Amino acid sequence: MHNHSTCSDGLLSPTQLIELAARTGVDAIALTDHDTTDGLAEAAIAAQRLGVVLVPGVEISVSWGDTTLHVLGLQVDPEAPALVEGLRSIREGRHGRGRKIAAALEALGIPGTFEGAHALAENKSMLGRAHFARHLLELGKVKDTQAAFDKYLAKGKPAYVPHRWAELGDAVSWIRAAGGVAVLAHPGRYALKPMFRDEMLGDFRAAGGEAIEVVTGSHRPEEYATWQRVALEHGFLASRGADYHGPGESPVEPGRLPALHASLTPVWTRWAH
Ligand code: AMP
Ligand code: MN
Ligand code: MN
Ligand code: MN
Repeated sequence: MHNHSTCSDGLLSPTQLIELAARTGVDAIALTDHDTTDGLAEAAIAAQRLGVVLVPGVEISVSWGDTTLHVLGLQVDPEAPALVEGLRSIREGRHGRGRKIAAALEALGIPGTFEGAHALAENKSMLGRAHFARHLLELGKVKDTQAAFDKYLAKGKPAYVPHRWAELGDAVSWIRAAGGVAVLAHPGRYALKPMFRDEMLGDFRAAGGEAIEVVTGSHRPEEYATWQRVALEHGFLASRGADYHGPGESPVEPGRLPALHASLTPVWTRWAH
């Protein structure tokens, strides 16, 4: 229930992603590009052809205080005006942020990275840090894209540029206005102290959030139990998703993660019967 394509920072086209899902025996897959639903129409055609169920989705960038959160919208109507307009509004800031990232890298002695990253972004309105990471790899400045985040692009590193994304309440309301279910993506990735973690989960619930990811390629296996407990204690539905970005970058392919524990209620019970 969590995968990317070339419409954001994935490496496979929507068609190639669905073909991979069909090959690995997946019967239902969500495409959840960052801040865009541009890939869903192409994915739907491939899904129909290959007999795979496509769950139309999106992964929305949110600012909660100084923390960036990712909220998945699953089973959304990509034509819903509130969602279309909301996503357009948050994509707008990406070019300006990209210029600032490039300026920071230039100050570190690496010029020209805006153009390099921009050339790697197939969807020019969705320039992201992963495109900078791939360009830094291309330049030989790092040994892999992970190292580009660890050395330059992650929060606290010298080319990290803080950015204001959507408000949590707005993101959830766009998803719900589009008939979708809001799922907090990879809750283990936010480095929040327990008190703030509970406040964030409370705000997410109050905004209309219904589910959290438990089993995801963005959690270490030893974290699954923690988030399983949180889902049960807070009464959230649970989701499972590879957060797949493509060969060589994501170790876990769609459909290869362990199943959710039987005590959890999967988010897809909200629409699949
Ligand atoms: P952006 O929305 O442009 O800030 O990019 C966010 C994306 O960058 C995430 O979805 C991941 O694909 C990638 N990313 C963010 N932080 C890291 C990290 N520490 N290590 C590897 N990839 C990361
Ligand atoms: Mn990504
Ligand atoms: Mn994410
Ligand atoms: Mn993701």
